Amino acid sequence: MTAAGAGPAALEITGLSAGYGPIRVLQDVTVSVAAKEIVSLLGPNGAGKTTTLLACSGMAKVSAGDIRLGGRSLLRLSPHVIARRRLAHIPGDRSLFPSLTVDEHLRLCARPGGLDVLELFPELKKRRNRRAGVLSGGEQQMLALGRALAADPQVLLVDEMSMGLAPVVVERLFSALREIAASSGLAVLMVEQHVHLALKYAQRGYVLAGGRVRTQGTAEELEERWPEIETSYLGR
Ligand code: ATP
Repeated sequence: MTAAGAGPAALEITGLSAGYGPIRVLQDVTVSVAAKEIVSLLGPNGAGKTTTLLACSGMAKVSAGDIRLGGRSLLRLSPHVIARRRLAHIPGDRSLFPSLTVDEHLRLCARPGGLDVLELFPELKKRRNRRAGVLSGGEQQMLALGRALAADPQVLLVDEMSMGLAPVVVERLFSALREIAASSGLAVLMVEQHVHLALKYAQRGYVLAGGRVRTQGTAEELEERWPEIETSYLGR
């Protein structure tokens, strides 16, 4: 179960140790996200936030613990099998194909039940025959989010959605994400450097430092405790 009242976990990470080859980055990380919930991973550079997302989608090496999606373990599954279990991952670099058009991206990923992306982001409708490589940063992020949602995920992992974008675009993307999570039951685990932005849109958060979860709480609790968290756990 997740935090009180949040319901059964859609994504459940328990006692996770993971890293790259012989390098262990995460130790004993336990994080859960319920349907309709947005949960934020916070912490300094190198804390292990991105590694947590990569472990979920089968791209970091898990040495202990478990990761369950809808109650079923994802361990030892390949990234494409994990994606088929309805886990979508938007990496920090967005991983679009610069030479494919907006329409081509959406057609490649669309699944029955997936969202109508052009309805969600009418900005993309006007650009549907443009190649992703010539879109603005904001349009690229809309496409990255839209492509993930078109596949009808149960769990969405988002890494640094706000990176390099104007505040107005960032608010637009996070608002869209919040509405979709609330209306569709999507569970969102996001990594975000801007703490106050993350806590504005997430219901709960976990603070990682040195590969471990140092503290957790509701967004309100973490916002209130942030000065103390910075001193106690983040060495600031
Ligand atoms: P940032 O915001 O800087 O990305 P983060 O909390 O997301 O911070 P991670 O990217 O998960 O941190 O990195 C955690 C640690 O793992 C860092 O020490 C980093 O150098 C190391 N690391 C990341 N990727 C690799 C890799 N492919 N091979 C080896 N070590 C890696």
